[in-house]
Amino acid sequence: MPRNPFYNPAKPHHRPDGFRNPGGDEVSKSLAQVLRWRLEARRDGLPRPPSDPIPTARPDLARLHGYAARHAHDPAGHGPSITWAGHATVLAQLGGLSLLTDPIFSERASPLPGVGPKRHQAPGLAPHELPHVDVVLISHNHYDHLDDASVRALAAQAGGPPLFVVPLGLKRWLAARGITRVAELDWWQSVSVDHGAGTGAEVVLLPAQHWSARGINDRQLTLWGGYAVLARDCHLFYPGDTGYSREFVRVREHFAPRQHEAAGGGFDIALMPIGAYAPRWFMSAQHVDVDEALKVCADVGAKRMLGVHCGTFALSDEALDEPPRVLKALREERGLSEDQCWLMAIGETRSLPPRGTGPR
Ligand code: ZN
Ligand code: ZN
Repeated sequence: MPRNPFYNPAKPHHRPDGFRNPGGDEVSKSLAQVLRWRLEARRDGLPRPPSDPIPTARPDLARLHGYAARHAHDPAGHGPSITWAGHATVLAQLGGLSLLTDPIFSERASPLPGVGPKRHQAPGLAPHELPHVDVVLISHNHYDHLDDASVRALAAQAGGPPLFVVPLGLKRWLAARGITRVAELDWWQSVSVDHGAGTGAEVVLLPAQHWSARGINDRQLTLWGGYAVLARDCHLFYPGDTGYSREFVRVREHFAPRQHEAAGGGFDIALMPIGAYAPRWFMSAQHVDVDEALKVCADVGAKRMLGVHCGTFALSDEALDEPPRVLKALREERGLSEDQCWLMAIGETRSLPPRGTGPR
């Protein structure tokens, strides 16, 4: 019996003892490399505290809570929007649904109370401020993406638990917490969330170049990945945590039949991780930097991008306010408009132009 109960020898990313990256790229670092990184960071006093404040905004709760009813009344009149709660947690309201990516509302991204990366500011939305969440997308099991307290709070929301969509291996983790509304996917598999009357979306798990581990003996045992969410009025792309990979061109090819010009074009929004990239010798295989995030957007064919996975938890050597500064500089250098390449305040909501009311 292989250690990986999902092992399928026909799939190149499956291994008897777990999973591996597209092309087999190994991103895990040796203990010696981890020690070198930590020692050099300490020696150089990194990360330095941010010199600019991280912008925050009060969320527009009336708007967020009224979305489902407004959409049911007039789907065409109430287009999609995204709200940044901090780190990689985004509330996406599209296709009449409220979806959350990698919810973390806790004080620390850590298995232990009182230690580990501490958040720089309160979340832009607290769990009790959320509208009813229909779908939660979990990209992988790292503590800054799969947070025990946040998952439990969502499972206990008024009106019943959301559907949790997770990569292979994480259904068990949720079941241990009494959570059974779960769709567990392998790369390229999908689940349809259909609420009828033009409300719903298809959620597809996509390959990403990363890794998984929560304890000392579970490395690569559960899968990691990103998501495409396809609704009538919005196609959203979120790669979770990822290094740069040739797989993103395949993502574009995969969805091309549904994203041609007459069908509304490519992804309407990409939620791109732009933080936790320094130092590159340690981070580049597992986290894109800002330049690579833009390259991924071009590869998958996204019309616009929001930078996430920054400004909240100091996980690496760059200052918390560095990724937005780099993004602004690259935007200017390349003549990209503010509408193609966003930064948001934590708590802020932005509307997206709807891609029409045709088939998804
Ligand atoms: Zn991660
Ligand atoms: Zn992360």
